[in-house]
Amino acid sequence: MVMARIVKNKGVKAGMEKINMITPLVEMDGDEMTRILWKFIKDELLYPFIDLKTEYYDLGLENRNATNDQVTIDSANATLKYGVAVKCATITPNAARMSEYDLKEMWKSPNGTIRAMLDGTVFRAPIVVKGIEPCVKNWEKPITLARHAYGDVYKNSEIKIPGAGKAELVFTSEDGTEIREVIHNFTGAGILQGMHNTEASITSFAKACFNYALDTKQDLWFATKDTISKKYDHTFKDIFQEIYDNEYKHKFEEAEIEYFYTLIDDAVARVMKAKGGFIWACKNYDGDVMSDMVSSAFGSLAMMTSVLVSPSGVYEYEAAHGTVQRHYYKHLKGEETSTNSVATIFAWSGALRKRGELDQLPELISFADKLEEATVKVIESGRMTKDLALITSIKDVTVLNSEEFIKEIRKELENF
Ligand code: NAP
Ligand code: MG
Repeated sequence: MVMARIVKNKGVKAGMEKINMITPLVEMDGDEMTRILWKFIKDELLYPFIDLKTEYYDLGLENRNATNDQVTIDSANATLKYGVAVKCATITPNAARMSEYDLKEMWKSPNGTIRAMLDGTVFRAPIVVKGIEPCVKNWEKPITLARHAYGDVYKNSEIKIPGAGKAELVFTSEDGTEIREVIHNFTGAGILQGMHNTEASITSFAKACFNYALDTKQDLWFATKDTISKKYDHTFKDIFQEIYDNEYKHKFEEAEIEYFYTLIDDAVARVMKAKGGFIWACKNYDGDVMSDMVSSAFGSLAMMTSVLVSPSGVYEYEAAHGTVQRHYYKHLKGEETSTNSVATIFAWSGALRKRGELDQLPELISFADKLEEATVKVIESGRMTKDLALITSIKDVTVLNSEEFIKEIRKELENF
């Protein structure tokens, strides 16, 4: 262990003191190409500068299978204990993965398991650099999308109705009393859908959004279709407003940020005309659709970060993209890859900064800032991976392979 450290620290400038940490980060390793990048990032950008403390959990699919997925549960519990985690992308098994990895079971998505245990909301934000212009030219600052990740159409019940008849909504309470509402008197065949949400989940979502807005000092927008859905969507609106008035109004005023509610169609129109720099909270379906629109308009999935925030203030940072399987197979064949590590680097910087804030370690916070600055500087100077080279407006571009890109960032970091 000690030997490994010494080797890893080779090349560090003489006299450079490593930054100390107090509480460990929960480190969740992952799969395929992102697992390769994960190791490069630690060796080149973290170990030389920080006395890195992590509690390591191997969420690679082989180890999830070997531990019957217990490792995922353990890593989520560790996150609840320590408060901050950083996660590498992981494979969500499907039929093809069953044979590829000889799996005992089609294990659930680790992100789903962790999200359920942390009761969290996912915030996705683009990393904005000069030279990678968003398609929407007035978007000067990032737009962070917060998606409610429970219920609605994702937990629905549906019926295909064969012919004429009456459709009703029925709720039977525990004491047997019923509430009934006629949905429609069908005169012919049709379709029917029932869906739900809970006050508890909407409350968690609202609190996670308000806390994240305060944390990042950005305005919060929330939108539903309450004029049409006078009970369902209106409940979302009311819960947000009540929590805001009772618990956050004062804090928002102090932080000089705003909470703003509007109709979803109005929000969409305003977002297109806005400069960015705010959080857009969406119901589950709206968030699913709008997050893909926002991320593709900002340029690249490889430049999108993601953080899961629990209502109790627990944070898990990751990249929004997957394990980049196609690149990994090239890597296994010994071919060169040019995989973009920016979102994974920003997952680390986000987690380190949050750890620094919680433990009051200004040097760690400042290192996180420098790591991000160095990464942005490399790209803005025209050194980048292939995915960005294809979309940049910068003229003289040097296309780097996966490892070279990280080494260029290391050089910049050493110059600070
Ligand atoms: P992906 O890993 O997001 O990659 C899809 C394509 O997007 C890549 O083939 C590549 O395009 C491009 N791309 C994504 N990230 C990139 C990066 N960092 N640098 C350069 N190009 C990048 O999705 P996938 O290959 O469809 O899924 C692979 C595995 O990831 C799946 O097993 C899935 O379950 C898992 N997944 C995990 C998470 C997570 O853990 N959060 C999220 C999504 C998916 P080109 O091939 O054209 O270069
Ligand atoms: Mg989607």
